[in-house]
Amino acid sequence: VSVDDLAYDALLEWIADEVAPYVGEGRVADYIPALAQVSPDRFGLALATVDGRLYGVGDYRERFSLQSISKVYSLALVMARDDGRLRGRVGVEPSGNAFNSLIQLEYERGIPRNPFINAGALVVTDLLHTLTGDAAGAVLDFLRSEADDHTVTIDGAVAASEAEHGDLNLALAHFMAAYGNIENPVDVAADHYFRHCSIAMSCAETALATLFLARHGVRADGSRLLPVLGAKRVNALMMTCGAYDAAGEFAFRVGLPAKSGVGGGIVAVVPGRAALCVWSPGLDQHGNSVAGVEALDRFTTATGWSVF
Ligand code: GLN
Repeated sequence: VSVDDLAYDALLEWIADEVAPYVGEGRVADYIPALAQVSPDRFGLALATVDGRLYGVGDYRERFSLQSISKVYSLALVMARDDGRLRGRVGVEPSGNAFNSLIQLEYERGIPRNPFINAGALVVTDLLHTLTGDAAGAVLDFLRSEADDHTVTIDGAVAASEAEHGDLNLALAHFMAAYGNIENPVDVAADHYFRHCSIAMSCAETALATLFLARHGVRADGSRLLPVLGAKRVNALMMTCGAYDAAGEFAFRVGLPAKSGVGGGIVAVVPGRAALCVWSPGLDQHGNSVAGVEALDRFTTATGWSVF
């Protein structure tokens, strides 16, 4: 056990103590029944360093629904295959609207503001499906390989629930299809989107699976997924758009590229050093984990590891 190991473990324990009063605050996502059942009292935090070491505290090995965190991997997989084809189909500006908002699509003729709002992620999934023939399978294979765990899987109950209550996402997809910005059948693109959102992983697995962004594009096996420029771009989009319409406040408090999901997870990247994942299901009004934001705020404040 090195001094570093002791220091990381102690830091994570301290953060867990500090944020304990926030665990259970906020509201668990209830737009689908499968997520509404998750217990609000969970908290887990994992830190994976670029050399592959892993530290964790609390419920960091319990799996939760990735939801919008999965948008990071679908984007990276598209960029790895064909960066150019996204240009013109999805923007790179923060939206300032809720993640599932329809409003801006009408003004911008079916071109979503960025790849991390639902509309943008649907376009990314659509393109990934064209490029691979199996968008959700491509995301799942990538995550299994990076987390080094072949039991990572799609939660079928969550996926079915997403589809059953998917009117808004289907409306977004149909709207964009009307402008020619969805190339596969709408129900196919939406189904793959619902399924990759429904992948269940733990904080430990998610932190490991996101290390490629801390390693400037290099995967766990040493191969390169993205060029340095591609990793820079994904990180930049996470910084400006990863916390939905609270991305400004998130940068102000945490100062790291990050992506949240309504399952209560947030993954964050410290370029060159580490990836972190925190999970606690209680959400604020923007859909970001209350205790999760508190924990990451304390992490960057204590370590000085914000990109600012
Ligand atoms: N599956 C969710 C949805 O499409 C993902 C949204 C999120 O995590 N913000 O609404």
